[in-house]
Amino acid sequence: TMSRKLIVGGNWKCNGTQDDVKRIVEFLNKAEVPCTNHIEVVIAPPAPFLPILRSTLRSDFNLAAQNCWTGKGGAFTGEISAEMLMNLNVPWVILGHSERRTLLGESDEVNGRVFPQQVLLSMHLWCPMVAEKVAYALSQGMKVILCCGETLEQREKNETTMVVARQIKAVADKIQSWNNVVIAYEPIWAIGTGKVATPQQAQEVHANIRAWLSQNVGEAVAQAVRIQYGGSVTAANCKEIGSQPDVDGFLVGGASLKPEFADILNARI
Ligand code: PEP
Repeated sequence: TMSRKLIVGGNWKCNGTQDDVKRIVEFLNKAEVPCTNHIEVVIAPPAPFLPILRSTLRSDFNLAAQNCWTGKGGAFTGEISAEMLMNLNVPWVILGHSERRTLLGESDEVNGRVFPQQVLLSMHLWCPMVAEKVAYALSQGMKVILCCGETLEQREKNETTMVVARQIKAVADKIQSWNNVVIAYEPIWAIGTGKVATPQQAQEVHANIRAWLSQNVGEAVAQAVRIQYGGSVTAANCKEIGSQPDVDGFLVGGASLKPEFADILNARI
């Protein structure tokens, strides 16, 4: 509903050069957006670009990392810690993105598929990885965009509600407060495919997520947690999806690299 503040994220994924950063920051800084009392904008560039964005991007837009480590930094070559992100004035982190779950083996269960389990064991992790990351990031004062969503096969087998509930339960079991968590519902079949969910499909899953939170966490949390839709959101389709009562914003991939992202920020105007 309108009482939840709209939140729109731009996930650049693993894209961009220094020149692209300049060009994108230019159109972001020029973008006319609704008063930031009504919308929160979170830009998630690749980690190497976070400092230059923090020093050139308008101050009313926040930054997110696309990943961070499960615990305190240390001997974890190649990883980025929540402490570092906080130190860089990057208050947000996207966790559990489907690309990380499927390509990098991040799992919501210990006894998951073979590859995730091997990864978990080799890292001596006994916790579901995404949940551990969320809990640790929150413990360091970060805000988290938690991604969830089903594959096409799971949707066709009518498993969407179950899969999404399992992904959220893994996290719910590990955290005490949902104050600093935003959920991004991202059906995997809609990510980067141009096959956007219908407003009805998005609304149905968002409402089911809220129902799950109401039954398993509490009604106040269910009403307060913001749920973004992600998956082939464009300037052309954002208004219709954004008008659904349980859709509180978007997580935008491809279109966040283009000037049309400014139009998506104005979906509800
Ligand atoms: C994403 O990466 O979170 C995403 C939704 O990508 P796209 O908008 O390109 O489908």
